Amino acid sequence: MSNELIYQKKNFYEVFGEAEKKKAHEYAIGYTAFLDKAKTEREATEESVKMAIAAGYREYSFGMPMKAGDKFYFNNRGKNIFLFTVGTEHMENGFRISAAHIDSPRLDLKPCPLYEEGGMSFLKTHYYGGIRKYQWVTVPLALHGVVVKADGTSVQVTVGEDESDPIFYINDLLPHLAHDDAKKTVAEAIPAEKLNLLVGSEPIGDSDAPIKQHVLTILNEKYGISEEDFLSAELSAVPAEKARDIGFDRSLIGAYGHDDRVCAYPALTALFENASSEHSLMCILADKEETGSDGNTGMQADLMCDLMHEISLAMGANPTVVRYNSKCLSADVSACFDPNFPDVFEKRNAALLSCGVVLTKYTGARGKSSTNDASAEYIGWLRGVMAKDGVLWQSAELGKTDCGGGGTVAKYIANHNIETVDLGVPVLSMHAPYEAVAKVDLYETHRAFCAFCKY
Ligand code: MN
Ligand code: MN
Repeated sequence: MSNELIYQKKNFYEVFGEAEKKKAHEYAIGYTAFLDKAKTEREATEESVKMAIAAGYREYSFGMPMKAGDKFYFNNRGKNIFLFTVGTEHMENGFRISAAHIDSPRLDLKPCPLYEEGGMSFLKTHYYGGIRKYQWVTVPLALHGVVVKADGTSVQVTVGEDESDPIFYINDLLPHLAHDDAKKTVAEAIPAEKLNLLVGSEPIGDSDAPIKQHVLTILNEKYGISEEDFLSAELSAVPAEKARDIGFDRSLIGAYGHDDRVCAYPALTALFENASSEHSLMCILADKEETGSDGNTGMQADLMCDLMHEISLAMGANPTVVRYNSKCLSADVSACFDPNFPDVFEKRNAALLSCGVVLTKYTGARGKSSTNDASAEYIGWLRGVMAKDGVLWQSAELGKTDCGGGGTVAKYIANHNIETVDLGVPVLSMHAPYEAVAKVDLYETHRAFCAFCKY
């Protein structure tokens, strides 16, 4: 049998030389800076708006006229952003859409979070997204978010990111007293109601809860808030660590929230680099993916269709035709084969580190339920597009069939009659407080989005 008939995954280091490797390392610098500025969907939206304005994008409002060459962004409630360009070809040829999410698993504060017990004061949390709870204890945590007061004013809170800031912490049991506890399963080890943030231990005054009183006094001095203001707040505990290179060769990046900023960032940079494409482009950075894409900032909301409808009207196009001819890359991460846990992967269909951007035909679980399952025709087209720029890509499933599963925003976009497939970066330790990716895979993802915008 002739060799070229055999399909084999290729490794970046076999295909490309020093020059391409250098470009991948340089690209990663901008990405790590973005990660440190954008740990929540609100911060990622804010950062994207800044980048968009710097790249010449204007804020869009419903009903605005537009023409070929225009570049707009629509900031949806500060948590979700749509950026789009009007191409020179007819609008009815459809949009090239890249859709990533900018929310990540974390610990949200409960509406009534503050209490004291045992000489300590704590904030109760309710976890957001799918986490392995035992990973979130005894790691430095920062608090990010907003408090909206009854008078309508809002206060930004970020504590734990500056070197001089305090951090927060969740206690865990010492091994010396864990004889019985150690018999529990990993899932039982840390129940949700033990995820309580340690926030103080020094009393003040003579109330029944002097440590809690002290915490409230500090919060009042710093932010002008009282306990009732927690009821209208969105405060999240996220890992306080900054993004760092991993390995002697600095080939990987460790960070909180690669899922899914590692796809959001290349989708954005590809949009900016290809704004003069003949195609109309749209980049969507969505909220609420980790909890099922519900709500008015998630991809199940009508907003994407509303915007496409408005743009179509402004350009004299039929919105039904625009959607029918649009193509979408649902930009989300895949599980990277982990040699420490080989049993959950099916080796012929697993994403390998340093083998490029991952194309996932279908996600879901239990016999492909809850997936859009991209068509062979669309994937065939996409193969041709990536080949034009020599993008290194690989095909993969999330893990072994019936081992678990997961979903993305793909099906919600495909449901609007838009060709959609999942594409993104392979991630190690997905949903852990500190995840890892390879720089070369990040770079190939950027190149994949560029090819998609161009051809
Ligand atoms: Mn994701
Ligand atoms: Mn996720």
